[in-house]
Amino acid sequence: MNSTTSTSRSLERLVLGRATRDGDGVKLTRVLTADLQQRLDPFLMLDQFGSDDPNDYGGGFPDHPHRGFETVTYMIAGRMRHKDSAGHEGLLQNGGVQWMTAGQGVIHSEMPEQEAGSMEGFQLWLNLPGKDKMCAPAYRDIQSQEIPEVLTAQGVRVRVISGVFEGVAGAVNRPVQTYPTDALYLDLHFEGDALFVQPMPSTYNAFVYTYRGEVAVVSKQGQTQAVGLHHMGILRNEGEQVQLQAKTGTRVLLIAGQPLREPIAQYGPFVMNTRAQLMQAVEDFNNGLFTP
Ligand code: MN
Repeated sequence: MNSTTSTSRSLERLVLGRATRDGDGVKLTRVLTADLQQRLDPFLMLDQFGSDDPNDYGGGFPDHPHRGFETVTYMIAGRMRHKDSAGHEGLLQNGGVQWMTAGQGVIHSEMPEQEAGSMEGFQLWLNLPGKDKMCAPAYRDIQSQEIPEVLTAQGVRVRVISGVFEGVAGAVNRPVQTYPTDALYLDLHFEGDALFVQPMPSTYNAFVYTYRGEVAVVSKQGQTQAVGLHHMGILRNEGEQVQLQAKTGTRVLLIAGQPLREPIAQYGPFVMNTRAQLMQAVEDFNNGLFTP
């Protein structure tokens, strides 16, 4: 397979996130909103936060519950302390990832451990299949140095958070862990004017998010479509690969996964398959079943 015989995904749609606040007044941009959950199945939400003003993040995210999915927090800058009702605690900091499986239910908090300086990062919500929604809660605290990096011949530094890039398994897949949705989560740092190529089945739902600079989606016949700063680009389900071109200094998240194709029922921090399961989640939470 080479660039003359394979086809690359084109850009389907650009999405500019919506400014909002969550937790105790933390300012953030909600990039993947509820109306995109079907289109981007198995991903339920993507928040981007970034500020130098402690008034924008100081409140943090005090105790709140989750059930039925996973939260993946990727810190670019700053420090946040995680604690949950399953007894896990960890410090999330520069370049590190926290992968929390809420499963049958956790109550957790994510609180800043800084009073000044920059706080920047992302939180992605990854859905679980119905059969796994009531699994035991789990937690992975992955430090920056544990995330494998691959520097491509073209000059793209690829941080492999999840999935596989050029045969290198992501931090969350080590030692051996596979996900029903085969989630791919790559952080791409362009260290030269470079073309990045990743094979991808056309059935996988995929998007890019540009957080420095601007990236071009390169589709068939070298046609390019720009995804500007702070935009999400949803990639069309076609072809066998994704091709991205950018200049030095550009940074982009590439996120993709195999859709679950199950009904999605959400009530705030609970994501199940049916309304009855949501009502059960609320009842269980009210009855204190989320705390051991
Ligand atoms: Mn949370």
